[in-house]
Amino acid sequence: MKTVFAHVDCNNFYASCEKLFRPDLRNTPIVVLSNNDGCVVARSKEAKALGIKMGVPVHQIKSEIRQYGIQLFSSNYTLYGDMSHRVMVTLEALAPRVDVYSIDEAFLDITGIDKAVSFADFGRQVKDTVYQNVGLPVCVGIAPTRTLAKLANYAAKKFAATKGVVDLTDPARQRRLLAIVPVEEVWGVGRKLSVKLQAMGITNALQLADTDLATLRKRFSVVLERTARELNGTACIAWDDAPSPKKQIMCSRSFGQPLQSLPDLEKAVAHYATRATEKLRGGQQFAGELIVFIRTNPFRTNVAQYSKSASVKLVNSTQDSRLIVQQALGQLRSIYRSGYDYAKAGVMLSELVDETGLQEDLFEPLGTENLGRAKSERLMAVMDEINRKSRATLCMARAAGPTAYVMRREHLSPAYTTDRAALPKVR
Ligand SMILES: [Mg+2]
Repeated sequence: MKTVFAHVDCNNFYASCEKLFRPDLRNTPIVVLSNNDGCVVARSKEAKALGIKMGVPVHQIKSEIRQYGIQLFSSNYTLYGDMSHRVMVTLEALAPRVDVYSIDEAFLDITGIDKAVSFADFGRQVKDTVYQNVGLPVCVGIAPTRTLAKLANYAAKKFAATKGVVDLTDPARQRRLLAIVPVEEVWGVGRKLSVKLQAMGITNALQLADTDLATLRKRFSVVLERTARELNGTACIAWDDAPSPKKQIMCSRSFGQPLQSLPDLEKAVAHYATRATEKLRGGQQFAGELIVFIRTNPFRTNVAQYSKSASVKLVNSTQDSRLIVQQALGQLRSIYRSGYDYAKAGVMLSELVDETGLQEDLFEPLGTENLGRAKSERLMAVMDEINRKSRATLCMARAAGPTAYVMRREHLSPAYTTDRAALPKVR
């Protein structure tokens, strides 16, 4: 049977999470800010309509903020991580296999589901159920390959007439869409590669799909050849080789057997953190934030349920496995409770930057005065390793003690869903 994937992606995820708990801001433009309230990392649709660009430093939009009453939020990953779980748990109840791709995206394997319901109806069901259960809007793209499903979702978001669901299983429809999608929107192509492709006259996705495969392999890579095959409807990118998401890297899996003990979970989380960091280095990126989550199986009845996530901001963005594993284990220990059958754990790296983004952080004031020497030495070793491994221009170590995590987060919303003291108030 031919495979079919549904790609589910939350709309303006961070901004939608913030709005969900602030119905008073329903029609107000809002933006979510990065580490230290520096740059815009998410925009509500009203803010997008005002022309606020992704990644713009907040000081550059001061006049717009005043003029249009744009509301600012510091990124609140405790909230987003928890809302993400709720979305994923809902999706897991709807499809036999769910691959979580990033904090707000997942691929559902829905091969054969059309025997029971049309693909488009299934897509609408997913959209309605997530909205009903979690309160967040999503779009759904359905296609025989993950690359096409991503493009179907792009169309679902871009064209209002689709009402957020696009069934791209029909080959003629695939070609019509590919012809109007810029090549840089194709999964895994990105800006750098698209410049080279454009120089060859390949500007839209259809042209890439129609390029001779041997030429693509010779001039670029077997990876791009596979992408072209996927655009032609042949699923051939293995899940482990899927391109890294631009904004977060997620590594999470259900356990074959439920785990109970902390050491067992530590092993799993250390493994996921290592995997995630490998992907990070593979994409020449550095992470500024880390989230760990653990949960029991919500579909097992008559057992105690527990689900918790914790996040930590890394003052120095890093791509060092040791530092990230250490931080991940620290977060795990803070949320672990004994007496549960854990079914799943995961590690997510976010606030991803490349080397250019990294340099800015180096000039922030240091907070090392309270840190022990051993810790500082260890950090130096980490820094040395980063310098040896890559051409990173790091020149001083900063330890990761508690004081170092005090970030500027002036516009932080409450942890509505994970802290009893922060429950939203109904007036
Ligand atoms: Mg999204």
